Amino acid sequence: MSKGFLLVISGPSGSGKGTVSKGLLSRNKDIVFSISATTRKPRPTEEDGVNYFFLEEEDFKKKVEDNQFLEHAFVHTNYYGTPKDFVLQQIDKGEIVLLEIDVQGALQVKKNYKNVVFVFLLPPTMDELRNRIIKRGTESEEDIERRFKNAFEELDFVGEYDYFVVNDKVENAVLDIEHIIQAEKLRVKRHSDIKKRVINKEED
Ligand code: 5GP
Repeated sequence: MSKGFLLVISGPSGSGKGTVSKGLLSRNKDIVFSISATTRKPRPTEEDGVNYFFLEEEDFKKKVEDNQFLEHAFVHTNYYGTPKDFVLQQIDKGEIVLLEIDVQGALQVKKNYKNVVFVFLLPPTMDELRNRIIKRGTESEEDIERRFKNAFEELDFVGEYDYFVVNDKVENAVLDIEHIIQAEKLRVKRHSDIKKRVINKEED
């Protein structure tokens, strides 16, 4: 089994996936972020090619036809997809690839790929989730309601994941995920040379 693996993080809008991912990426140089493609319009602080690849619907659909996505889904009111080539190349290089995707996408990944760790990020309470979406101030009232309603449905899928992490404090959520990653790295099946490694140490 390759040393690289996919780290899927899902969670309702407002659970803090973006902030937690940023924390993880800034502290762990062996994690690379998979930049998704989307038909959603950029938020004021977002940049094309950094947060997402922002595409017109026609271009997105062409990429779906050309089988360029590892997974893709219609979330809230837009299409989102994970570029396949980039992710597979990084895994081959032994990197940990972070996919911040919704539950529909996670289920597709689960069906098609083996070397994946699934983490579900939870808000401390649903009230807090609602406050966070409102405080972000980037969505219309209608979109806030839609995202909040969808959150309840997304929670039904937590049983499909390997781990849950409660994002009460970002630092703690980041630490929890780092511990999950550390355990994953120590899986015997990721290493073919454990005995040799110990023997060589004794000879040192
Ligand atoms: P947002 O519009 O808030 O950036 O993202 C909305 C939802 O789409 C979030 O749940 C986010 O995780 C999900 N999402 C982002 N990129 C992808 C992707 O490539 N595939 C799927 N399936 N979901 C994604």
